[in-house]
Amino acid sequence: MGEFELIRRHFQREGQVARSPVMLGIGDDCALLQPRPGHLLAVSTDMLVEGRHFFKGVDPEALGHKALAVNLSDLAAMGAHPLGFTLALALPEAHEAWLSAFARGLFALADRHACPLVGGDTTRGPLNICITVMGEVRPGPAMQRSQAQVGDDLYLTGRTGEARLALELMREAAWATSACGPQALAHHPELRQRLERPTPRLALGTLLAVLGSAVHAAIDVSDGLAGDLGHILRASGVGAEIALPALPVAPALQRLALAERLDCILNGGDDYELLFTAAPIARAAVEAAALASHTPVQRIGRISAAPGLRVLDASGHPVAVSARGFDHFA
Ligand code: ADP
Ligand code: MG
Repeated sequence: MGEFELIRRHFQREGQVARSPVMLGIGDDCALLQPRPGHLLAVSTDMLVEGRHFFKGVDPEALGHKALAVNLSDLAAMGAHPLGFTLALALPEAHEAWLSAFARGLFALADRHACPLVGGDTTRGPLNICITVMGEVRPGPAMQRSQAQVGDDLYLTGRTGEARLALELMREAAWATSACGPQALAHHPELRQRLERPTPRLALGTLLAVLGSAVHAAIDVSDGLAGDLGHILRASGVGAEIALPALPVAPALQRLALAERLDCILNGGDDYELLFTAAPIARAAVEAAALASHTPVQRIGRISAAPGLRVLDASGHPVAVSARGFDHFA
């Protein structure tokens, strides 16, 4: 199977080209996309490298899902509506079964969000998957990291920490296996799901964008809640308080010692939840958006003038936490 046969067989699909906003899809030198009038193009790229972002031998269908999911999550955090994506793929070999499983996972998610594959590049090399998503968004500062304001409520979708625990259990980290038991991954299938099949919060993200000026800053949590919140705080020149009792704790995390549980929740990574701030006047609207999008949303704290992040226990006392977001070069 040659390069072009591989693309035709696994990635080029009938019926994709005709549908708006894709004027021209796979097969020419460029794809041509047409955002709706009055919208800006939102663009984001994420790369997944074998041995770095996923284990060698990971289920290719899950990998196809995750490669697109992490990109759609960035669109969600900007309130952008997906238009399409490109796929740059380096493969050690053209393995039929691997490719069709990968494409199945990829397109199942793409179809769910009406986000067609419009182009890409294919080469031989160490397994590496780079996706660029494109979306459209109304002009305006809403959901940019720099827009948090003192007095804002701080919200989190879903819950954090499970992907990190799954990763540590797969690595057989002693603290994880001794607390959860050696069969924890079998007893808690949701842990692996959270690591390998994250859900991009697009439905909520696009609803928040149309709420207008009351929704201020947003980010998707990919490198840990505390670290990613730090990006909002620095960009906005503000601080934040998180109420520890307000943070949702997944069942599998209940068995961890407090320090490790907090580390998973605050510094876990790979969660792909949305973290956002909104004026208190928007509480009812945020709740309605959460209901309409079937997305669990929790108010976990507030934005303050004092810089830095403080995590407070039930009696309002600060809890010592280390906020270290994941950094590939640290
Ligand atoms: P070029 O040489 O002009 O860069 P290529 O030969 O790399 O074009 O690709 C031919 C067509 O196939 C282009 O439209 C390109 O976007 C598309 N394509 C290549 N690889 C992929 C892929 N992995 N997924 C989707 N489309 C792809
Ligand atoms: Mg090319």
